[in-house]
Amino acid sequence: MASLPDMTEAQIRRYARHIVLSEIGGIGQSRLIAARVLVVGAGGLVAPALQYLAAAGIGTLGVIDDDTVDLSNLQRQIIHRTADIGIAKAESAKRALGEINPEVTVQAHQERLTAANVERVLDGYDIVADGSDNFATRYLLNDACYRLKKTLVSAAILRFDGQISTYKAWQGAGHPCLRCLFPAAPTEDAVPSCAQAGVLGALAGTLGAMQATEVVKEILGIGRSLSGRLLVYDALAVSFEEMAVTKQAHCPTCGTP
Ligand SMILES: [Zn+2]
Repeated sequence: MASLPDMTEAQIRRYARHIVLSEIGGIGQSRLIAARVLVVGAGGLVAPALQYLAAAGIGTLGVIDDDTVDLSNLQRQIIHRTADIGIAKAESAKRALGEINPEVTVQAHQERLTAANVERVLDGYDIVADGSDNFATRYLLNDACYRLKKTLVSAAILRFDGQISTYKAWQGAGHPCLRCLFPAAPTEDAVPSCAQAGVLGALAGTLGAMQATEVVKEILGIGRSLSGRLLVYDALAVSFEEMAVTKQAHCPTCGTP
């Protein structure tokens, strides 16, 4: 890890509520300031995740999305404003994050993540938060993060349901990956999209904030990691259920062939 930066008076005031937490303190806050996090997608889920990560002072925050803001996004993608319709989401998010915390370096990648560019895009980041809207990207990230030894905090929402887990299978025993849970991606038409099936706007806030929480915990190494556990939230029932995810010896990504 890079050497920890000294904090200015303004930083000490801005992050005072973090610094007073014994689990974070000045050293922990310096770690957050030194951290480099990539958030994939600038949609509903990642809007609150990005905002909380910027407010937390994550030093370098990357956002990758190739889409533009549409009127139908604004019901849940609260990082964008009505005036942003037609603007690239990555740029709109960068503007919003700069207003929340100008100390954060925001890198806007206006492109779609593919097998051809994933290594280049992920290079320079320590942790990846996935809030993408398709299985191809989810599996691409799972495999690339395993290869590149980057922790992946992955969340998804649909209708009134959300789920979140952390994957760091490169750490070995006890740490499964997405393919240990579901070896292959379902076809895109096997599961309906948010556009087809709908999604409650505030659900993005719940899961996105949880995603930001888990990213911060992973950076600081505090609390219990979500690695090896899939947390499932049912907003209608107001229930959280936890599923154990077991590392599979013959997983196509993290197992032995
Ligand atoms: Zn695996």
